[in-house]
Amino acid sequence: LLGDDGTVRATIFAEMSALAARTGAINLGQGFPDEDGPAEVLAAARRAIAEGVNQYPPGIGMAVLRDAIARHQRRWYGIEPDAATEVLVTAGATEALAATLLAYVDAGDEVVAFEPTYDAYGALVARAGGVLRTVPLHRSVEGDGPAWHPDADELRRAVTDRTRVILVNSPHNPTGAVLGRDILELIVELATRHDALIVTDEVYEHLVFGGGADDRHVPIATLPGAWERTISISSGGKTFSTTGWKIGWATGPAPLITGVLAVKQYLTFVNGAPFQPAIAAGLDLPDAFFARVAATLADKRDLLADGLRAAGFDVSLPQAGYFAIADAAPLGFSDADEFCRRLPDLAGVVGVPVSALVHPERRAEYRSLVRFAFCKRHDVLAEASDRLSRLT
Ligand code: PMP
Ligand code: GLN
Repeated sequence: LLGDDGTVRATIFAEMSALAARTGAINLGQGFPDEDGPAEVLAAARRAIAEGVNQYPPGIGMAVLRDAIARHQRRWYGIEPDAATEVLVTAGATEALAATLLAYVDAGDEVVAFEPTYDAYGALVARAGGVLRTVPLHRSVEGDGPAWHPDADELRRAVTDRTRVILVNSPHNPTGAVLGRDILELIVELATRHDALIVTDEVYEHLVFGGGADDRHVPIATLPGAWERTISISSGGKTFSTTGWKIGWATGPAPLITGVLAVKQYLTFVNGAPFQPAIAAGLDLPDAFFARVAATLADKRDLLADGLRAAGFDVSLPQAGYFAIADAAPLGFSDADEFCRRLPDLAGVVGVPVSALVHPERRAEYRSLVRFAFCKRHDVLAEASDRLSRLT
């Protein structure tokens, strides 16, 4: 995690945001929205501050939020976690991931995750002393362009008795893939056979666009046999466009959540008090709000995908999330890492090379791919598309 000169090496997302700030380029790198989320949620935070909700809340999270998370799980997925013992509030999904992996991964334990892999996973598994084993998502060309799927046999081979955790991320960052029920069932089967835990990162749960066979988010915890070995993680950041608030949560059976709390209490102890009732208000918003979030983002996806295609990229149309993957090879750029570092000069835009989320030994398959965020205003996406069209 330290660079050759002993300083902290910035994450790829921080590095690319700094590049955008330095060059004035449009930042389609780090995934954060450039508009505020629902007014009710923002008002609830302001109200909480005005009403004096400003001191340490309980470490497990404020009851108002734990109740709202339990209600949310029931409303959307039919899961009924006990708000007192089976719901834990964390500093974003990131702390939930950190506390979970530190709690359950011991030296030498293996953690299986799909690749490309969200950057924090590898760092956290290493910090816990574990070994990350990845299963590649392969790009294959389908109706709407390339789509991403794991190979069931590769997954079977990766999970062994050394596996302590299967770390699932669906909807997936960076590909936008939504794992199908068949793969989720296989994960449960393998976890059960090898007595592994399932840790599932579902921060994009409400950002699913629809229109395909796998177009609904299926939480793996809802599958038969899954609940007792699954810790489900999510966050208010994406759904409510409040990525800077860092309110996340973990849900699962009480004994598993207790282990996560034991670690969490010495990481952050507690989390931002006034944001907790505010995210609770968000979770209780009517269904129409959640439908609108996904529909608005689907429009943005289409706008950017059209722009990227017009500029000459080969684009994977994501089923969910904040990001589209564009292949720069048709434009004559075979190394996305180098391309992304030159892109501010070439076109005044910043993207993230997918290879940064892939183990060095397996980068060849992903070498010319760039992740572009479309969680941005229409005018920003239109301007970025226009700039990128000058690449040819
Ligand atoms: N997991 C994934 C897959 C993400 O994309 C992100 C953030 N973009 C996180 C976790 C972190 O979420 P939070 O900001 O709530 O910590
Ligand atoms: N998760 C966001 C992304 O993938 C950013 C989070 C971060 O910067 N760590 O871009």
